[in-house]
Amino acid sequence: MTGKLGQIKDNIRDARSGRLIFISHCLLNQNACVRGLASQPAVIRQLLDLLLEHQAGIFQMTCPEVSYLGSMRWGQVKKQYGNPMFRRHCRRIAREVCDQVQTYRDNDHRVVGIVLRDGSPTCGLRCAAVEADRDQVWGGMVWSASPRQRFGNTPGVYSEELQAEILTRPGFTVPLFALPEVAEAGSFEKSLEEIEQALKEVD
Ligand code: SF4
Repeated sequence: MTGKLGQIKDNIRDARSGRLIFISHCLLNQNACVRGLASQPAVIRQLLDLLLEHQAGIFQMTCPEVSYLGSMRWGQVKKQYGNPMFRRHCRRIAREVCDQVQTYRDNDHRVVGIVLRDGSPTCGLRCAAVEADRDQVWGGMVWSASPRQRFGNTPGVYSEELQAEILTRPGFTVPLFALPEVAEAGSFEKSLEEIEQALKEVD
């Protein structure tokens, strides 16, 4: 083992790299995606390969949507998820994540950052699914609905609560990244390069 952890804990040396990254649940479990959005059979392979190449431990955050609505859910826009109950649910997950980041850091591990999912109304960082027409009424029976969405330059509900939670903790910062769910939500390659750069910086 190399790095700060190996130097400090020389008397209890083990095989760990001492570096880890937090990622949105569906990056490691495509089954969590709303039906129609899974882009790969099991995991986002390019990310997993990259993380293993850099020997980063992977902390899979709870999926806010599946843990709130179950796996049989419709795709929704941010306005629908932006209710106080879902925000409270997201805030609970965000607190747990920040606590976990803190405890690893307190014990000499290096946290590369948190990888979210652009395009998601929940985990989007730079963009999220929003309603295409602000005047359109959302809600009602699904078979009579004809909703239209677009991607707006706004974070999703979980990302907003995560950033709000980070701000409540004096001196606490953590780099945030996002891989797009779909091509319209950003460049997958560019986003992967940003994560790779961050991994190199903590190698
Ligand atoms: S983007 Fe977030 S809310 Fe959507 S499936 Fe992935 S982890 Fe769940």
